[in-house]
Amino acid sequence: MTTVSSSKLPSIRGEIEANAPLAPLTWFRVGGNAEWLVSPYDTEDLSDFLKKIDPEMPVRTLGIGSNVIIRDGGVSGVIIRLPRRFSWIKREEGNRLRCGGSTLGMMISKVAADEFLTDLEFMRGIPGSIGGMIRMNAGAYGGDISKILLQVTLVRRNGAIEIWPVEKLNFAYRYSELSEDAIVTEALFQGREGDKAKIEAQMAKIIAERESSQPVRSRTGGSTFKNPEGHKAWQLIDEAGCRGLKIGDAQVSEMHANFLLNLGDATAADIENLGEEVRARVKAKFGISLEWEIKRIGHKADGDKA
Ligand SMILES: Cc1cc2nc3c(=O)[nH]c(=O)nc-3n(C[C@H](O)[C@H](O)[C@H](O)COP(=O)(O)OP(=O)(O)OC[C@H]3O[C@@H](n4cnc5c(N)ncnc54)[C@H](O)[C@@H]3O)c2cc1C
Repeated sequence: MTTVSSSKLPSIRGEIEANAPLAPLTWFRVGGNAEWLVSPYDTEDLSDFLKKIDPEMPVRTLGIGSNVIIRDGGVSGVIIRLPRRFSWIKREEGNRLRCGGSTLGMMISKVAADEFLTDLEFMRGIPGSIGGMIRMNAGAYGGDISKILLQVTLVRRNGAIEIWPVEKLNFAYRYSELSEDAIVTEALFQGREGDKAKIEAQMAKIIAERESSQPVRSRTGGSTFKNPEGHKAWQLIDEAGCRGLKIGDAQVSEMHANFLLNLGDATAADIENLGEEVRARVKAKFGISLEWEIKRIGHKADGDKA
């Protein structure tokens, strides 16, 4: 890994770890170390830290790592990971829920049900923190973040704390206009009054469907590729003959062809190369270029930059 700065970082109220392993913090369980892993104490601590560090220092954020491949050569600069202190939910006037940036979407949907609020059920089946879900405009079963988000609080690379209305994020399918170095620390969601029994039944249905159609207990990264306009990525992958395809210990899931798996000892390179092989086969058969949904972060082991 290329070291960006050997000097120490400014002290913070939270925690800083040098050369920190990232693999255990991701679903795939692969990849190298972060030059610096930083867990701020609160939003102000994060803001002060970003104001003080070298403006050239790269900064990225990691949520719970359910949609990322950390490359084997690790990540230069700072990885911000919001700790548990950022996981909280408050009910507000007008059927709204305010949440911290590391709150799990699943928790929000459960609290929404307890508060008799509908429209947030889709979050029940998506593993992910609010920060990651907003960045990815995560969605399922007809719902997505763009439909329920009112505003977001974020910390910019220069340390500025800003509140953005949803319109400013220019959401599209699995896309938000949020620069890679902006960190979501808080969000405000809009629900509607609903029937608790119906909300809970919908969530139970979501869970049952997930369990039967996705490898939810495996080392995976969720949907690997975005669905191309008018197509399902899994179907193209399947029809290109890639279901079950393997490179090293990485495999295209037999259960859901748009999921890649680490069977145990895969490297990040195995998983990424398998994804590229799938893209090449789909392109050769259908002339369609699949676009990665999974974020690939860091350096390859041979030192290539991401
Ligand atoms: C079994 C399984 C099923 C899944 N099903 C779905 C699904 O149905 N629908 C769907 O949309 N996704 C799905 N996913 C993908 C994933 O859960 C979502 O993309 C989720 O939103 C990622 O959140 P995270 O906290 O894990 O983010 P990470 O994977 O850690 O990061 C994803 C991106 O978000 C950024 N990020 C993370 N936290 C922040 C923050 N605080 N501020 C700014 N940026 C941040 C990261 O830098 C990165 O670019 C699935 C994944 C798995 C493993």
